[in-house]
Amino acid sequence: MEELDFENRLVSPTEIMGENDSDNPLRPRTLRDYIGQEKAKENLAVFMEAAKQRHESLDHVLLYGPPGLGKTTLSGIIANEMGVNLRITSGPAIEKPGDLAAILTNLNEGDVLFIDEIHRISRAVEEILYPAMEDFAIDIVTGKGQMAASYHLPLPHFTLVGATTRAGQLTAPLRDRFGVSLRLELYTPEELASIIRRSAGILHIGIEPDGALEIASRSRGTPRIANRMLKRVRDFAQVLSDGVITLDTARTALERLEVDELGLDANDRRMLTALVKFYRGGPVGLETLAAAIGEEAVTIEDVIEPYLMQIGFLNRTPRGRCITRAACLHLGLELEEAQDGQIRFSE
Ligand code: ADP
Repeated sequence: MEELDFENRLVSPTEIMGENDSDNPLRPRTLRDYIGQEKAKENLAVFMEAAKQRHESLDHVLLYGPPGLGKTTLSGIIANEMGVNLRITSGPAIEKPGDLAAILTNLNEGDVLFIDEIHRISRAVEEILYPAMEDFAIDIVTGKGQMAASYHLPLPHFTLVGATTRAGQLTAPLRDRFGVSLRLELYTPEELASIIRRSAGILHIGIEPDGALEIASRSRGTPRIANRMLKRVRDFAQVLSDGVITLDTARTALERLEVDELGLDANDRRMLTALVKFYRGGPVGLETLAAAIGEEAVTIEDVIEPYLMQIGFLNRTPRGRCITRAACLHLGLELEEAQDGQIRFSE
């Protein structure tokens, strides 16, 4: 079976090079401009206000949820609203404890340190992070044997904002050191339509409300995908019509891009089809499914499944993944009968 290309597909929620520049004009800078995620926003507003009143740095914040939902954006907003600097790094980029020590000792009082994919930091780096988060200090050992010396370095009070696709991937001691833990949810089509209209305004793209909603409902609940689709649909509007994105141009463009009305692309369809053809719709274990379609299990879990579950196309059961009747109807797939002549769907 053909390997899936999740990295470069239009509906991939992961970043494409150059998309995430810190001067990305589409990134909201204030909580007011950050659309949706009402629960997380309300709580965060209270915590930030309280910290400001006490003239303290904000407690460490853990943000979790699928990629492209606005975790990096939110860390920038926290820094902006608290009036401090933002320093961005990621778990895999911090290779040695010394790398983290260098970052930490260069922070200013109150700064926000954003660590993306925090579940991927090594154990040795994590050990440095514990006292840094808890006591705002690190112990550094230099030299070996008799020449070894240990230094206790105080750090400025900083706010660590950690982002991860799943909170369950963090070790318990690390998770416990975050005072605030916020879960980001997939966005509704209406929220995504507001994000698209805001982005269109910034990019000077003419768009009609039902054109925005059409793109929104095909964006898999993810702002990063919504913004990317807006730019591609603009190209079609520019070349095929008078540059304004109407319902019709949005539909035509997305059909040409092979993104169906629910946001599924050829790769989603192939995965669901494999589930039906090879495993009678499931249940099938994650690893087996991953091997069958040549994709990593974590990509399926973090990137593909959340949306398919949200729209009721896939169920996670203790025995494995199952396709639903709705998915089969949508894709026009028929399930084979089991030995007793029954067709069993996971509802
Ligand atoms: P993550 O860090 O979760 O992968 P990002 O913060 O990089 O996601 O967000 C991806 C893009 O989506 C950003 O460039 C931003 O323009 C847009 N975005 C995310 N959340 C929102 C939001 N709530 N309102 C408006 N735009 C958003």
